[in-house]
Amino acid sequence: MQDAATLPEKLQRFSISENGCWNWNGSLWAKSARPRYWDGNGKWRCAYRAIYAALAAPIPEGLTLDHLCMNKACVNPGHLEPVSMVENRRRYDASNVSKPFERVRNNKITEEQAVEIVRSPLSNRECAARFGLSSGNVSRIRTGKRWGYATAELRAQS
Ligand SMILES: [Zn+2]
Repeated sequence: MQDAATLPEKLQRFSISENGCWNWNGSLWAKSARPRYWDGNGKWRCAYRAIYAALAAPIPEGLTLDHLCMNKACVNPGHLEPVSMVENRRRYDASNVSKPFERVRNNKITEEQAVEIVRSPLSNRECAARFGLSSGNVSRIRTGKRWGYATAELRAQS
């Protein structure tokens, strides 16, 4: 993926949150509240489609971008996957929208690894480096905010 610094200024209107989402600070579509930008040519366009196409890959025709992080204000190409409209709808219906980011965070590691993290004598930072997570994620796993069901017994013992 290319560096976000290569984006035109009109597409750089986001701030990066701790969970890796690029939260759009620019204009939003009135109805859907999704990120949009003024193309300078008389049209509003979808900001995350433009950013995905610029930094990741061209979007195959007819496909829409699914937010794997469930955060529709996010424009991080790494959190987007091109899917058909039907698949997008199916995922949306199957999702629990009240738990944003759970999918992305949880899928980074397995249940066994979550247990290993809770057991590990390493510091949050060392653990983060070892498992390729942020130390915030490690802390959330250790306190049971993530993978809580998998580590409940272990945490109760310590
Ligand atoms: Zn995101």
